[in-house]
Amino acid sequence: MTGRYKKVYEPIWRSIEAQNGRGVHFCLGKIQVLCPACGSPLVGGYGTHKRKTKRVETFQCKNPNCAHLKKFKTLKQFVLTTSYKFQELIGIKLKEFYEDLMVKSAKQKTLAKKYGISESQVSALRIKLELAIHRINSLDSLVLTPQPDRAIAIDETFLKIKGMCIYIIIATGYTSRKVLGIKVSKTRTEDDIRKVFDEANQNTEHPINTVSSDALNSTQAMTKNLGREITHVIHPHKKPFKKAIIKNYRYEGNERVTGIVGIESDFFKKRGKRQFKYMEMREDLTSKPQRKRGRPLGSKTKKKKKPAKSKQKRGRKGLYTVFSKGKIGYASIDPYRDKLKINKRLSSTVTAALNATLIIYALMSIQNNLAENINSFLRAVLRLTGPKTIESVEQRIRATLKIRNHPELLEDILIERKVRAEFLYNNLKLIEYAELLERGIIV
Ligand SMILES: [Zn+2]
Repeated sequence: MTGRYKKVYEPIWRSIEAQNGRGVHFCLGKIQVLCPACGSPLVGGYGTHKRKTKRVETFQCKNPNCAHLKKFKTLKQFVLTTSYKFQELIGIKLKEFYEDLMVKSAKQKTLAKKYGISESQVSALRIKLELAIHRINSLDSLVLTPQPDRAIAIDETFLKIKGMCIYIIIATGYTSRKVLGIKVSKTRTEDDIRKVFDEANQNTEHPINTVSSDALNSTQAMTKNLGREITHVIHPHKKPFKKAIIKNYRYEGNERVTGIVGIESDFFKKRGKRQFKYMEMREDLTSKPQRKRGRPLGSKTKKKKKPAKSKQKRGRKGLYTVFSKGKIGYASIDPYRDKLKINKRLSSTVTAALNATLIIYALMSIQNNLAENINSFLRAVLRLTGPKTIESVEQRIRATLKIRNHPELLEDILIERKVRAEFLYNNLKLIEYAELLERGIIV
């Protein structure tokens, strides 16, 4: 008896041809045909398939362990333009284009010039990308897996849609640097900010324990009314710039204990001994009996109090009270080792406030340092065509953020074959060959 003949598959190479503006075909280089499902070179010819006007050569994966076989009973079939290396090549080009479009927010005209294609081709590609993003957007969450962040920065910015002011509230993780929560809204109330916080909190492995933000009252109300321990680092972007306030909220029985610390914004920048101001407040949270409606008894005859004074203590102005009325404390800091020593025996809320802030601001000055790219990014999103409503803007921002959070998703963006082939052919400029050769994508 003789053993069964075992077929040996020779590597298959095919050339990529391009067509210039005058219809002349020329060879761009050769590409190895690999299975798109498993990347295997164990590939054999499988005749031709009919495509509109011509027949196209077809291949079949012969790898017995092909990933395709886990889901299907038949071997993977494909053509040159759907093969592994070709897809990879398109992936690289599209990613570059996408980054130019969405991240660097280049103009249509600039892109046309850079990629050697017409403006209408840029616009066609952009529409395809938008559709692909919309498909991806059906995946609701901003991240694919829970992120390791424990601290977030909350920022709000605004834009105008048809003359109306719209707020975009964004939460970014300090560890992952990913946007973990977002809301587009006509208002920026405590409830709006809370929704962004809750979304971010759902996208992390552990509960968020530190929030940094500017001095917006509704963000302050949000952290205050969260009902669990949280540290809030507030970096005002109005005068005085160089000060920051940290609040730590804790709950003991029916009481909310608030530790407030006032520091210079470069407190954690260098090694050394620094002064800070602090105070602690306790609030009874058990519901107080409601006041009777109407005028209190005998108040008509009472002298009027000055109402102006109590008003001054509220809101943003009250934020700086700790600097004028707080006690003085001293701390020695080693931001290189994330170490903080507090000389006085202070309450745990004050210690917690300073420690949480050191973690995110070691060697830095306390300011808005995560959101620098957000404005240019938003501009790019809004440059996209189509009707602009609050919902559509939020949907677009979400989709784009998702791609920024997970660039690997770009591989899932399948653009209509004709458009992507055309784009690729128009884009393989001679100057790029060296790079592609080096990466072994084209030989
Ligand atoms: Zn395969």
